[in-house]
Amino acid sequence: MKKIELLSPAGDFEKMCDALHFGADAVYLGPKEFSLRTGDAAFTPETMAKAVEYVRAKKKKIYFALNIMPTEVMISDISQFIDELIKFNAVPDAFIISDPGILNLLKEKYKQSVGYHLSTQANCINSQSVKFWAENGIERIILGRELTLEDIRNIRKNIPDDVKVELEVFVHGAMCMSYSGRCLISSYFTGRNANRGDCAHPCRWKYYLMEETREGEFFPIEENNGGTYIMNSHDMCLGKDIEKLICNKDSTIVDSFKIEGRNKGTYYVSVVTAVYRQIIDAYYNGQECAQDIIDQLQTVSHRPYSKGFLFNKPRQNVKDSIYLWNYRFLGKCLCEDDFIKVDVRNQFSVGEEVEVFSYGAKVDTYVVKSIYDYESGQPILQARNQEVVKIALDSDIRNFEYGLLRKKWDNQKKKKTPAKPQFRREKKNK
Ligand code: SF4
Repeated sequence: MKKIELLSPAGDFEKMCDALHFGADAVYLGPKEFSLRTGDAAFTPETMAKAVEYVRAKKKKIYFALNIMPTEVMISDISQFIDELIKFNAVPDAFIISDPGILNLLKEKYKQSVGYHLSTQANCINSQSVKFWAENGIERIILGRELTLEDIRNIRKNIPDDVKVELEVFVHGAMCMSYSGRCLISSYFTGRNANRGDCAHPCRWKYYLMEETREGEFFPIEENNGGTYIMNSHDMCLGKDIEKLICNKDSTIVDSFKIEGRNKGTYYVSVVTAVYRQIIDAYYNGQECAQDIIDQLQTVSHRPYSKGFLFNKPRQNVKDSIYLWNYRFLGKCLCEDDFIKVDVRNQFSVGEEVEVFSYGAKVDTYVVKSIYDYESGQPILQARNQEVVKIALDSDIRNFEYGLLRKKWDNQKKKKTPAKPQFRREKKNK
């Protein structure tokens, strides 16, 4: 029986290690320039080669995203980038591509055996399209997020038996209000190109109406007291629905569940991966995943969850642009002798209530009894971002290998009205 794959985002090396530790079967990552994520921490050919080594040692899989839609001027840069990957002997299990030109380049240049996955950016949403790509060397299709469960089932059913191809679907993460990233709003308003991985997310801003001769007079468009966020989509969360996508233990409709979020933090990647790992494992063990495990998905920063298009009722727009998060990540912790070593990410103090999230363990509340500088052993009252400290809690916890320290946090208190967008478009001459 082939178990469904859990595929997690790896925005950088640390997040990749965390995703694997918290239960991912495979990770996907990519370079800043060509993988639809322009975050500073993205990978280089050298770090991609190191990532392959690390992932292989763990007997997991690694996929490289080269899924931009390049214009002609970019092709020579991509070609050079592929040469660099080959120079560093960076051979992933598969490349994720959208553009047939990049597929051709990879096929020409890579002598080693690698697989090819079709990115969701290519909007493959029917069985004939699946067949076309499979006949052209694609071994896995990442289906468009705009499909219903029935669509996905029908696509699987209608793929001819002699076409061997895997299907992958997103189960968690941010959605676009447009068709999977095929969107020009960000380029238009800010010059940041969503189709190059640099989206400024203007679909999540608050909008007003302005009559063209009354510059600066904004007329509210009110859906509710918060105004209107007509293009602001919910996040997807299919934690409770994965068995409908698996079908039964012996024949899956899809082969891989993907978590979105290469730009998200390590806490998000770790917790979301751990939760879906436990949901999938519970399913294959014939059990139901405990609700308190699924509830951990509420502890990561997110916009209101929905089931996307799965049941044909997309609930795209939400009432404001506030992210929900009721926990603040404080740091990563390891048990050491009599103390817990913490690699601090957000400040905390002696006397504060904290929790430790670790894979498969019950989450309890503790009080920080003492904090010490890790090197000098000097007691301190407060741990600050990027420090390494030792802490003692009011109760002895030694049953976790690797934990995420967090504290409850009311982000509603931190509500900010987003800055008014600076429109880039020229004013019309009257
Ligand atoms: S502006 Fe919104 S809809 Fe457009 S690509 Fe960015 S996130 Fe997607």
